[in-house]
Amino acid sequence: MILVTNNEGYPGADTTARLLAEGRAALDAIEAGVRLVEADERVRTVGRGGWANILGEVELDAAVMDGASLRSGAVGAVRGFLHPVSIARAVMEKLPHELLVGPGAEMFAREIGAEPAETLLPHARQAWEAWFAGAVKGAERERWPEGGLIGHVRAQVQTDRPAGTTVFIARDRAGGIASGASTSGWQWKYPGRLGDTPIIGAGSYADRRYGAAACTGVGEMAIRCGTARAVVLYMKQGASVHEAVEEAVEDMRAMAGGLIGRITIHAIDSRDNFRVVAVNGDARNAYWLWQEAEPHATRRSCEAIAL
Ligand code: ASP
Repeated sequence: MILVTNNEGYPGADTTARLLAEGRAALDAIEAGVRLVEADERVRTVGRGGWANILGEVELDAAVMDGASLRSGAVGAVRGFLHPVSIARAVMEKLPHELLVGPGAEMFAREIGAEPAETLLPHARQAWEAWFAGAVKGAERERWPEGGLIGHVRAQVQTDRPAGTTVFIARDRAGGIASGASTSGWQWKYPGRLGDTPIIGAGSYADRRYGAAACTGVGEMAIRCGTARAVVLYMKQGASVHEAVEEAVEDMRAMAGGLIGRITIHAIDSRDNFRVVAVNGDARNAYWLWQEAEPHATRRSCEAIAL
């Protein structure tokens, strides 16, 4: 058994570890852990308390994948619900679809009775209001939001705005492997922007036969390289988890243009080996690891690789 979750996973890591130790399925243990992160206001990049988009609205993304069936469920740009990860799981279990976005995802959330919530908290509202007051003036303000978002979004991204995600990948006692991810995405992103988190194969992927992978950081990079799927596919082709992550990093070196920044790749295989690499990051990037027989998840420093 093994659990790897990123730095932001701390509110849920021990709960997921305990459930795995009790013999629960990886997907159940992961959902329980991600829900704790989503509800925790200290985590400023996931669920309630996450950062707003350029219009001052919180749009949340989440995904789960069951590595036994290769079924997944994901939601993108969802407003007004506390637990996007559970809405994503319900997409997987109740619909013949894998991904819902925007108003359709919100309609589905209401239909299944998902818990509504005010997700824009005072710190995020005040941060957006301060930005708006300083950046949008005069005639532009009169027209807002028509006609002028592109330049603002480009400027914000260049200044390395706060972002973050939680990702959980785990292997349970019965050999089941699953993944889960949830985020508010980049602060002041363009409305409707999806990062890698709701895109299965980019931000997360799980296949019981080989392992699982999940990314945090610049989601645009994981989308372009299909990173989570690539790591698992390299393992299918015979690479160790170490080599598979190396190869996925190598793929990133082919990217030219677009948004290139920090991205962390987390991976496990079906024999409880793991690797976590902070691409363009440093050892201050951390993750949580729990393995069979340990009482708690422990915080570790990431390996760092520059592109
Ligand atoms: N990967 C997330 C996204 O692109 C953000 C992050 O993890 O920093 O939305």
